[in-house]
Amino acid sequence: MDFTYSPEDIAFRDELRGWLATNLPQGWGETVFLPEDEDENAMFRLDWERKLYKGGWNGIAWPREYGGRGATLIEQAIFAEEMARAKAPEGLNIIGRNLVATTLLHHGSDAQKARFLPKIISGEEVWCQGFSEPNAGSDLAAVRCQAVRDGNHFVVNGQKIWTSFAQYSQWCILLARTDPSAPKHKGISFLLVDMKTPGITIRPLRQISGECEFNETFFDDVRVPVENLVGELNGGWRIAMTTLAYERGPEDALGRQLVFRQELDQLLATAAKLQRGNQTAIEDSLLRQKLAKSLVAIEIMRLNCLRAFSKSLKGAPRGAEASMNKLYWSHVMQDMFDTAMEVLGPLAPLTAGDARAVDGGRFQLAFLRSKAFTIYSGSSEIQRNIIAERVLGLPK
Ligand SMILES: Cc1cc2nc3c(=O)[nH]c(=O)nc-3n(C[C@H](O)[C@H](O)[C@H](O)COP(=O)(O)OP(=O)(O)OC[C@H]3O[C@@H](n4cnc5c(N)ncnc54)[C@H](O)[C@@H]3O)c2cc1C
Repeated sequence: MDFTYSPEDIAFRDELRGWLATNLPQGWGETVFLPEDEDENAMFRLDWERKLYKGGWNGIAWPREYGGRGATLIEQAIFAEEMARAKAPEGLNIIGRNLVATTLLHHGSDAQKARFLPKIISGEEVWCQGFSEPNAGSDLAAVRCQAVRDGNHFVVNGQKIWTSFAQYSQWCILLARTDPSAPKHKGISFLLVDMKTPGITIRPLRQISGECEFNETFFDDVRVPVENLVGELNGGWRIAMTTLAYERGPEDALGRQLVFRQELDQLLATAAKLQRGNQTAIEDSLLRQKLAKSLVAIEIMRLNCLRAFSKSLKGAPRGAEASMNKLYWSHVMQDMFDTAMEVLGPLAPLTAGDARAVDGGRFQLAFLRSKAFTIYSGSSEIQRNIIAERVLGLPK
């Protein structure tokens, strides 16, 4: 777990640090932040993604032939660290870059890789993920959206839900049932759908935070060319499992714990200045204990991430460890933002836009957003099932 950096690693870090210093807007993270308006925010993040690409910093882990740098795991860790240190925004095309690209690299045809990968890495085409349905979330293999072969096309009919960024996406990875008579895991295919195809309707869903990150997506007689089938007909389940393995990877958690530590530092600074009666919030012994608990938990998260990461360095496959990390960080962060609400006390309900909102309402927004942590990328119950079966060897 003690990583030593080679001279090349140090040069990589210096190059990135220099690039970030000249390419992030002046005052970034101090006086300049992401736009509050959701659409402006999305376009800002897309521009940032394109800027990263032009600088050679998007999709660094990808093979060179598709525009990446073939970055080593250590370089990926350095990248996550430096992006967090600079409080750099996350690009918009998270699903394209992290999920679609990795899936296509594993299972796509040469033609699919050549067609789609360059436009993902350049940020020209944004992707969304059409997996969940109203009755197929945790039980994803229950998808009912149907794709029926008609000549050189599949005709898709059905509904997807919680489709993040569908409103900004040019393409969608879609799980559709292509053999209703087969056992449920064996009748699903993995399709690439052009979001401009006639018959697609996107309806935004407003979340508890007030944002509309995700949507309901309806497919009515949507024609998808057969060359957009990934892998074999009815072989989509295995491919979807690759996609999901990259939703919970160690490199993701590594950057995340740094960002969380920054959030905690900000909360500690806020607690040290907020007056509670005749003392500051941080002097309240109960609050202090809760803040200390978050500090310890984030340190444990860091060590867990390093352990998973060092296993990856030794070539271990992605395993149930990712579930342990996801389960752990999601609850640690919910606890931390619960504590943030206690630190803010009567000011907690004030949102961005109210002059009296503490730190521009950032903790209130983070508290509301944190409710999703234990649901997406596999809910906590599902993570516990995975750990029980694959780590503890308990019966199903
Ligand atoms: C912010 C956010 C963004 C998302 N983005 C996308 C996206 O872009 N694309 C997409 O396809 N999906 C997306 N999702 C959907 C997400 O994958 C699902 O919400 C998740 O898989 C849970 O499914 P569900 O909501 O249908 O809940 P359900 O599966 O109905 O679960 C309801 C409850 O029952 C529990 N439960 C279910 N099955 C079991 C079991 N076997 N054992 C024990 N407990 C169980 C669950 O843990 C949960 O508490 C997103 C979700 C969120 C919150």
